[in-house]
Amino acid sequence: MKKHAASCPVCGVGELQDRQVFEPFEYKGQRKELLCHFAECDACGVEQAGPEHTLANKRVMLAWRKQVDDLLSGAQIRRQRQMWGITQAQASAIFGGGPIAFSKYEKDDIAQSEAMDRLLRVAAAVPEAFEWLVERSGLPELRPRAVFMPSPRFMSHIPQVSVSVRQHELASSHELRLGAATAANDQVYVAGAALLGA
Ligand SMILES: [Zn+2]
Repeated sequence: MKKHAASCPVCGVGELQDRQVFEPFEYKGQRKELLCHFAECDACGVEQAGPEHTLANKRVMLAWRKQVDDLLSGAQIRRQRQMWGITQAQASAIFGGGPIAFSKYEKDDIAQSEAMDRLLRVAAAVPEAFEWLVERSGLPELRPRAVFMPSPRFMSHIPQVSVSVRQHELASSHELRLGAATAANDQVYVAGAALLGA
């Protein structure tokens, strides 16, 4: 969170300083201390929450609710998407949920539905399911890189042009992710399944 240099609107003398404190919350019969963000005046001591604090608190709360509801966390979804080597927009095209759905899932701004959660888990656990979804997504450019997890023998059949284009996309969009996914081949799905099953 960015440094709060604003002066206090109450006393007009002090400056607002970011503070974090654990406070107890209850959800569906479970209790947990969650880290709450707010600002405190260093002169008069008044506490207030700006928009950035409210947003941070909302994300902390939703992340915990997802955990209680046995939904994948935003971080788990991001890791899985990166293992597939796809962008957030591509993930939305493959799994549905609207163009900014994955951005919101991964930041814990919204919780994915139970149906979406199960779809992601099945795609992570069953390579053919992910392949089937990609086939239907209308993103044919994804098929060679994310779906087949090609063996070296398969790679030798891919035209050189196609390979270099993919590597270029790789470098320009998400650094090493796709490279790692391509190199790891079969292990990607194993790792994905292990992650989501954990
Ligand atoms: Zn003050």
